[in-house]
Amino acid sequence: MNKEGILGLDIGGTYIKIVFKKDNQIIKDKEYIADIKSSADKLIDKIFKILEKYNPKKVGIAVAGLYDEKEERLIQSPNIKSLEGLNIKQIIQEKNDLDIVIQNDATLAAYGEYKYGAGKDSKILVCLTLGTGLGGGLVVNGKPFIGVSGSAMEIGHTTIDTNGWICHCGRKGCLESYVSSYGIERLYFIKTDIYKTSFEIITLANEGKKEAIEVMEEVSKYLAYGLMNILHTINPDRILLAGGIVENYPLIEEMAYSNLKSLSFSLPFRDVDIKLAKLGEFSGSFGALALAESV
Ligand SMILES: [Zn+2]
Repeated sequence: MNKEGILGLDIGGTYIKIVFKKDNQIIKDKEYIADIKSSADKLIDKIFKILEKYNPKKVGIAVAGLYDEKEERLIQSPNIKSLEGLNIKQIIQEKNDLDIVIQNDATLAAYGEYKYGAGKDSKILVCLTLGTGLGGGLVVNGKPFIGVSGSAMEIGHTTIDTNGWICHCGRKGCLESYVSSYGIERLYFIKTDIYKTSFEIITLANEGKKEAIEVMEEVSKYLAYGLMNILHTINPDRILLAGGIVENYPLIEEMAYSNLKSLSFSLPFRDVDIKLAKLGEFSGSFGALALAESV
């Protein structure tokens, strides 16, 4: 059978999210992988099964972690450790004659929003993904900006407090250690001495519970510092907020925006539009699809 259509995959810690485009129709789907993610063989096998099912002529893949553009290997990926060090492109191409492009998931989330979502027509677009971690992606004049090695825009691992909390990356005081699901959980624990998941805390905030709202206000203040750093270094015309935290607590955008005004220079603040992203959990797969379409 002839290969047809273009596939975008986003390999995360829990699901492979799938977007398939053929004859201008788009299909979305996802495969649960949390139970097999510790085995590279099983993960690769799952990718082959997805390729068999859709039989695309091109595939784009978004991966969580640092993707080395020169060596074409995933270098560091806390959520899918089993794929670290592997050349996924080569492994797939040994069995499948396919065009494959791979990039970091947060970069591709930005590119997906640029092509298919809330980033259309922007000149300099930043997309922040607030979830388990804090991802950043940048699209400049319609092209993903990845840096020399592929690791640009790791905004989550820029320091906002040199004596701050330990981040999942091991550094102290990274923005991510405050603006992420585990940041929310820590802030809540410090305030109440009770451990709850970020999802539970956000639900309490949405129900109007004081401590939970105060935690989200604190998170939004840290987020505002991250946004200020972005405004002062990049001067974008649009910043999108994406990810599970934002989807469940969209108010964080307004909270951060009101803090940002007093923090930042007025010039980059004047020209930036801060909005919620549109593609939800599929932004990375849409970006992977768009990247495959572009080659
Ligand atoms: Zn970090």
